[in-house]
Amino acid sequence: MKRLLTTMTMTALVVSGFATTSASKVEAATTYKVKVTADGLRVRTGPSTAYKIVGSVNTGQTFNYLGVSGSWTKISYGGASRYVSSTYVKKYSTTTSSKATTGFSRPASGPITQGYGAASGVYGYTFHNGIDIGAPTGTPVYASAAGKVITSRYYGAYGNHVMMTHTVNGIQYTTVYAHLNSRSVSVGQTIAKGSKIGTIGATGNAFGAHLHFEMHRGPYVYSGTSAANSVNPLNYFN
Ligand SMILES: [Zn+2]
Repeated sequence: MKRLLTTMTMTALVVSGFATTSASKVEAATTYKVKVTADGLRVRTGPSTAYKIVGSVNTGQTFNYLGVSGSWTKISYGGASRYVSSTYVKKYSTTTSSKATTGFSRPASGPITQGYGAASGVYGYTFHNGIDIGAPTGTPVYASAAGKVITSRYYGAYGNHVMMTHTVNGIQYTTVYAHLNSRSVSVGQTIAKGSKIGTIGATGNAFGAHLHFEMHRGPYVYSGTSAANSVNPLNYFN
């Protein structure tokens, strides 16, 4: 009887494990984050105390988890990959439904080729107030959240670009999609989250095809030297 019970338990485990895996592939994406458990935790450029300190974080702050290296945890900090001691962070998983209709999501697939934050100045700005997603010309660009198109034109450094206004949890946000190859929306249109608004290109000041994506809290404000009212989109995607 004991042997039979063991067999049944193992079968149940296998079945539930399989169900979880297939459900997560179809309906949800799991990402990992870390929560800081100490104040003044140093953020370094590499996985040892020999590396330069580039910042300090406090209890309760959360960051995207990128991996581990020895006793160090790699996190996304200020748009770059940085390291903190694994002793003072706690890893946790977040599962988000790909069918979420509220909040913001990534507007295109592809690697982040330049993060949000301080920039060298070689391209004419010392603060990069958005993120760059590198992808081939023609890759679809989707509305990051439900909202209304307030700009759709070819102009200046942004080249072909679209701006949208959104109200999420009672707060107004403006999103910017720049360097597009093509635009498929016009001013005044109301757009559902995830609808195609254009395709990735290299129009305006762009060195190679990519999407330059900005998020502003409130109306659009430009600054090439500071964040102004821009926010790091990576902190908003669900
Ligand atoms: Zn950019």
